[in-house]
Amino acid sequence: MTMRDFSSDHSALTLNTASLGHNLEGHGAGWEPGRVIDACAARGFGSIVFWRREIGSRAVEVGELARKAGLSVAGLCRTPFLVGSDAIDGTAVLDEAKAAIDMAAALEAAVLTIVVGGVHPDSKGTADSLKIVAARVADLAPYAAERNVKLALEPLNPFYAGNRSCLTTVRDALDICEAVDAPNLGVAVDVYHVWWDSDLDAQLQRAGKGRIFGYHLCDWLADTRDVLLDRGMMGDGVADLKAIRASVEGAGYAGPCEVEIFSANNWWKRDPGEVLDVMVDRFRTLC
Ligand code: ZN
Repeated sequence: MTMRDFSSDHSALTLNTASLGHNLEGHGAGWEPGRVIDACAARGFGSIVFWRREIGSRAVEVGELARKAGLSVAGLCRTPFLVGSDAIDGTAVLDEAKAAIDMAAALEAAVLTIVVGGVHPDSKGTADSLKIVAARVADLAPYAAERNVKLALEPLNPFYAGNRSCLTTVRDALDICEAVDAPNLGVAVDVYHVWWDSDLDAQLQRAGKGRIFGYHLCDWLADTRDVLLDRGMMGDGVADLKAIRASVEGAGYAGPCEVEIFSANNWWKRDPGEVLDVMVDRFRTLC
């Protein structure tokens, strides 16, 4: 199978607005969604992914703005944590997750990302917490399906297992998908979280086209200083970007490639226009 050629066509390129920093208080240039949309459209990005905090009550309006500029809304970040110390009250968690689904539907976002949360306080290890995740996702999947929203479980780097994501591998994410057995439930594959995994290719084959709902790009800096806010731009780290994309596309994925870079001390300090220009260049040459 041949990989897509991005050197002459980068319409698969998607901005995750986290890469401009303003999804976190006190960071980034603070551009309004409309300004980000225009900057992406001007550079030939094909789509965009927002965070809930940027959207507020403007979901319908922002979705229309994006489509008018020629961009699709590839996704929305993200559900609240479904398990862990911030997710004890299951009813409250599911209510907030359903509000996130409603927002994705109003934006006409194709996918809502799920970051599952850490270890339940009354347990040790990840097994019990993953069971809670599966039960809560099973509750959300039909609600999302009725609203035409796909749910993407995003396994995070094991670094985060304690407090952000007891789900750390594509393998465990697929186990949940198979247990829940909903057609609108799949996985998001993020280079930052999976680059180290020697079983990745086999697991992506197992996932197949029907279960891969997203592909996220950045790089793992060899001497990273902060596992949350020091992600690298594609090409600056040690991830084998071409090999990972070969696996993702070999499994049948042909969707958006979403650049998602949390970088408090580097990229978030730069002019957003410059950051977007570098992204386009790196995407066309190195990804
Ligand atoms: Zn991601």
